[in-house]
Amino acid sequence: FLSDKSGKIFVAGHLGLVGSAVHRRLASLGFTDIVVKSRAELDLTRQAAVEEFFSSERPRYVIVAAAKVGGIHANSTYPADFIACNLQIQTNIIDAALKCGSVKKLLFLGSSCIYPKMAPQPIPEEALLTGPLEPTNEWYAVAKIAGIKMCQAYRLQHGFDAISAMPTNLYGPRDNFHPENSHVLPALIRRFHEAKVNGAKEVVVWGTGSPLREFLHVDDLADACVFLMDSYSGLEHVNVGSGIEVTIKELAELVKEVVGFQGELVWDKTKPDGTPRKLMDSSRLASMGWTPKVPLRDGLVETYKWYVENVVKQ
Ligand code: GDP
Repeated sequence: FLSDKSGKIFVAGHLGLVGSAVHRRLASLGFTDIVVKSRAELDLTRQAAVEEFFSSERPRYVIVAAAKVGGIHANSTYPADFIACNLQIQTNIIDAALKCGSVKKLLFLGSSCIYPKMAPQPIPEEALLTGPLEPTNEWYAVAKIAGIKMCQAYRLQHGFDAISAMPTNLYGPRDNFHPENSHVLPALIRRFHEAKVNGAKEVVVWGTGSPLREFLHVDDLADACVFLMDSYSGLEHVNVGSGIEVTIKELAELVKEVVGFQGELVWDKTKPDGTPRKLMDSSRLASMGWTPKVPLRDGLVETYKWYVENVVKQ
């Protein structure tokens, strides 16, 4: 892959958190023929449109970073959208990529929510399909599990080189900074920033502060995607974590410091903690020779800067 920088690559979902990071990484490495399409130009849920796109563009590589994503609230409010859109997008892309005959390799991206709610910690790849899922996001998770299985089935039946990567909790530029619907890290960046600007004395943080979460900067994920495209062609999916695990309290203190808020933290214990710990076992990827590079503090500083320049000033 890295020795074929003029090969045409289709990055599906290039406007999202993950797709935009993959696009930046490929461009910085000197890939010259990166194809992207906005939703208005190509509706990935329409099979005929996707097939037509693949047969006219004939990409050599495909990275599937397009998905319908959202937090706990969106997932439980729109279960039909989450299962249907994701199944359509991934099935259309993987199938058209095989049929058009030009694709040498495809990378499908999933999420840590594919694993059972009660999976052992850290969560190894083998935990897939060993128990019931977290009910609030099972619609999304079932679609992503189908994507992994589709890659495996296409490899087994057609010899198609489709691989899957499962990232842990991601953060970085282009994240969703919605106050209620986003994940904890962008939610806290926004809340501490607004408190600082408004001169508030305290900031409310949800839960008890004791849950543990792992955070990976999206630039590290993009680097891992390139690494896997270049060096992995296996049947099994691969976890992509950072090993950087912090309590929500530690995270809140760190965001407070990075944003420069001077007041107090108040814990709203009426809000749910969610699962006590969610850590991926990324030893398979580590044994292949890949390690993450962005320290949490540096990643937070950069993400806060992006938020101020692109969300606050819009
Ligand atoms: P999860 O990893 O699927 O549980 O998703 P979240 O990122 O939404 O939440 C992670 C943890 O952060 C949970 O324990 C939340 O209670 C806690 N948390 C603290 N403050 C916030 C907040 O403002 N928004 C969110 N989403 N979570 C928060």
